[in-house]
Amino acid sequence: MTNQNEDILTYFQKLDRSFFMDELKEFAYMDEAIPIGHEQTISQPSLVLEMTLALDLQPGSKVLEIGTGSGYQTALLAAFSDSVYTIERIAALHERAKERLEKAGFSNIHFKLDDGSTGWEENAPYDRIMVTAAAAQVPTELIDQLAPGGKMIIPVGPPLLQELLLLEKDEDGKIDTTVLEEVRFVPLRGKYE
Ligand code: SAH
Repeated sequence: MTNQNEDILTYFQKLDRSFFMDELKEFAYMDEAIPIGHEQTISQPSLVLEMTLALDLQPGSKVLEIGTGSGYQTALLAAFSDSVYTIERIAALHERAKERLEKAGFSNIHFKLDDGSTGWEENAPYDRIMVTAAAAQVPTELIDQLAPGGKMIIPVGPPLLQELLLLEKDEDGKIDTTVLEEVRFVPLRGKYE
């Protein structure tokens, strides 16, 4: 394992998942997605770790996250990159995640309450993009907002079962897609539902 991956693993093991939950905290230790209200879930820890490692974060990375949710994945992204731009469409989740992550001491996270299905154009391009809700297809806007040499992780497919995709953009803008595994995420609302 690279040093960076070891550091991510250590951080992940110490990160208290229950800190990101207001209900069902007694289930925080389970390796399952757990409801966080508003029909949404805090992602499965092993998958959060896997997706974070697959994104290949660099200390200088500017990261876009779609679907802040509880802020659990956001914390991992922010701890191992330069800055994170995260979008959530549900006001209550956005507010709570912002409160928690500020309380945890993060100052490199930019929060936005909005539909993120077409990204966050104004701060593009991003070196890394993480989508934590399932789209019917890869949003073309997100591909456009990915920097040359950039990487994106996104679950794509119908509501019950999706393929977790890794998209890599080369210096000429060509996209290479790898299927990592089958996953089940809540739907990405908006243009690519
Ligand atoms: N990584 C988060 C996952 C939360 S579930 C966690 O572990 O807590 C996915 C989140 O995506 C939900 O909070 C949902 O409200 C949000 N979401 C769905 N569609 C969205 C959209 N179009 N724009 C922004 N957020 C969206």
